[in-house]
Amino acid sequence: MTVKTVEPRTEVQSLLTRRPRRLRRTDAIRALVRETIVRPEDLIYPLFVVPNSRGKVEIGSMPGVWQMRVREIVEEAARAFDNGIRAVLLFGLPERKDATGSSSWDPSGPVQSAIEGIKRSVPRIAVMADVCLCEYTDHGHCGVIVEKNGVKDVDNDQTLELLERQALSFAQAGADFVAPSDMMDGRIGAIRRALDAKRFEDVGIMAYSAKFASGFYGPFREAAESAPQFGDRRTYQMDPANAREALREIELDVDEGADIVMVRPALAYLDIIRGARESFPVPIAAYNVSGEYSMVKAAAERGWIDGPRVTSEILTAIKRAGADLIITYHAMEFVKQTSR
Ligand SMILES: [Zn+2]
Repeated sequence: MTVKTVEPRTEVQSLLTRRPRRLRRTDAIRALVRETIVRPEDLIYPLFVVPNSRGKVEIGSMPGVWQMRVREIVEEAARAFDNGIRAVLLFGLPERKDATGSSSWDPSGPVQSAIEGIKRSVPRIAVMADVCLCEYTDHGHCGVIVEKNGVKDVDNDQTLELLERQALSFAQAGADFVAPSDMMDGRIGAIRRALDAKRFEDVGIMAYSAKFASGFYGPFREAAESAPQFGDRRTYQMDPANAREALREIELDVDEGADIVMVRPALAYLDIIRGARESFPVPIAAYNVSGEYSMVKAAAERGWIDGPRVTSEILTAIKRAGADLIITYHAMEFVKQTSR
C-alpha cells in the first residue's frame, strides 16, 4: 500500500479554518468534549416479582429478563446497587386474579414482600412500585370494567379508589415511590391525597404521565401477564399521534402533585421527552420499553447489529433528548459494560 504524501496547501485549503474534525481526532479529545453521558445513577431497573409458588423463568420475548421470586429479586437488587444502580421499579404477578384486581393490595403479595425484603437487605436503594390493576385483573384491563350502552370500558372514577388502596399498600410496605401507570384521569391527585391522609407524605409519585397506546409493549405483556382479554387500551392510553396532548397530561400530573413525570415509550417519542424537558422544571423519566429492548436483542442475536453499541446509543439518545431518568431492561448489562 502506498501512503499518499501531504501535498502543499492550495489556496482553497488554507482558507478552511473551521474544522470540527479537530474535536474528533482521538479518544481522549472525544471524551473531553462529550456532551451527554449516561450514568448508572440515571437508570431505573424494572423487575418482575412472582409468588414463591412459582419458579424463576426467563421471559421468552425478552432474553436476559426474568420473572423472579422475592428472594431472587432481593439478590438482584443488591447486585444492581453494587453496580451503581440506585433504583428498581417493581411489577407484580399475583397468585390469583379477579375483576377488581383485589390481590394488588394484599399486604403479603409479591410486590409488598419484595419491597420489604429489599428495604431490609439493600436499604440504600430506592424502591419504586408500579401502580396499576392490569396485572391483577382477570380481564387484563387497568381498571374496573363497566358496560355502557352495550360497550364495555374502564370506569375512571371507580378505578381511582382501587388505585389508592394499592398505592397505600405499597407505601405501607416501605416503597419510596409509587408509579401509577393506569392513565385514569385524576389519579395522581387521588393517590397523593390518600397517601397524605395516612401520613405517607414522604412517599413520592412518579407518574406515567404521557403513556401512549403503543405496539412496543408487546413483550411486556408476556412478562407481566397483563394482556387485555378483550378490546385494547385506547380509551385510556394516549394516541401516538398527539404531542400537545402529552404536554397537557404532564401539566395535569404536575398540578396534581407528581414528583417525577414520565414519557412512555421512549424511542419513538423523543420529541415528547424534549417537549416535556423544555416545558416543565421537574425530573423527566423515560421508559425504554420492552419492545425497544426486544428489537435490539433479536437483531443482535442474528448478528445484524452490535447489541451493546446500539444499546449505549439508544440510552444516550434518550438522555440527550432531555430525560433525567431512564427506566430500562438494559440497566444491568449497560452498567457492567461501561464499568469494564
Ligand atoms: Zn395497566
